Amino acid sequence: MRIVEVKQGVAPIRSDIANAYIDFSAMTASIVAVTVEGDAGRATGFGFNSNGRYAQPGLLAERFVPRLLSADPAALTLPDGTLNPAGGWAAMMKNEKPGGHGERSVAVGVLDMALWDAAAKLEGKPLWRLLADRYRGGTADEAAWVYAAGGYYYPGKGIDGLLEEMKRYLGLGYSTVKMKIGGSPGVPLKDALPEDLRRIEAVLDLLDGDGSRLAVDVNGRFGLHAALAYAAALEPFGLRWYEEPLDPVDYATHATLAEHYAPPIATGENLFSMVDCRNLIRHGGLRPDRDILQFDPALSYGLVEYLRTLAMLEAHGWSPRRCVPHGGHQFALNIAVGLGLGGNESYPEVFAPFGGFADDVPVVDGRVRMPDAPGIGFEAKSALYAVFKDLAG
Ligand SMILES: [Mg+2]
Repeated sequence: MRIVEVKQGVAPIRSDIANAYIDFSAMTASIVAVTVEGDAGRATGFGFNSNGRYAQPGLLAERFVPRLLSADPAALTLPDGTLNPAGGWAAMMKNEKPGGHGERSVAVGVLDMALWDAAAKLEGKPLWRLLADRYRGGTADEAAWVYAAGGYYYPGKGIDGLLEEMKRYLGLGYSTVKMKIGGSPGVPLKDALPEDLRRIEAVLDLLDGDGSRLAVDVNGRFGLHAALAYAAALEPFGLRWYEEPLDPVDYATHATLAEHYAPPIATGENLFSMVDCRNLIRHGGLRPDRDILQFDPALSYGLVEYLRTLAMLEAHGWSPRRCVPHGGHQFALNIAVGLGLGGNESYPEVFAPFGGFADDVPVVDGRVRMPDAPGIGFEAKSALYAVFKDLAG
């Protein structure tokens, strides 16, 4: 196997939405096309970075694309002749010191996604099937549990607008929804809490009062005091989960919160390496019988690293079913089905064209089946494929 060509570009995914920490008016994503050639022929794999981190054209151009292009063909090839993305990963990470993962994990993750897309295309199978065959004795799930993430703050959007949005998600076949809490950027927390309780109660009414169908997301805004104040107010609702209540790398405060809040806590979308995830597991006080881990393989060095994270979790007594990746993209959906995760996020209305799944795959009772198209399935999502086709030329 050898890398023939790598192309990269930057695509806008800006929108007017905001969570409690950032607005998305200047958000971008890196896109790549990686062409690989082997005895079985040639395939072009595509990759992009998940929302929430910006495009990384500089890191890609200066370090990771040249290193991938010079990867040793022997290292890129498994004994059975198939593509070994881990060989490309090792080439990209040559001369990178440990720690300080910063944004390089995003750049490497974009290329890693393309390598897995190419690997599956070269074998003529969908990525979920390749993963089940390589790592799970051939067993894949029939469908993945997905939930509709939205409920953003938006200029002029009131409770009516929030309810209309949630009704649209239920109409699309989702049974569980997620909304932002913690206030728009700049709103004092003392004003945010009563308003958020009104928003949550309104959405719960729509869900027949069933708290297990509603998750809330703080996007890391709170310190411990605010996280505990919200926890006390939220606990009676029995919500599906309370997401990123605290700074994602402040593990000790998570442990304190977990001592005081019995329902599930979710976090991890802003941890970008296996070692960071292990620190959360070691020191975050999270509970393997209920809490949710949202590490996003597209932002955290890709699937090669995510496999290490899953192995680490197993060693610490955590099931892969506790993992529900952030990002709402087809890459994580393939991983969820192929490796038996707990499900995947979904963004029905934001982050187009990168969010969302194949065009002809409906959500039924909150679950989605996978198409049989080779690779990750970008070709079955026309708006996204148009972007990649432009890049590949
Ligand atoms: Mg989140």
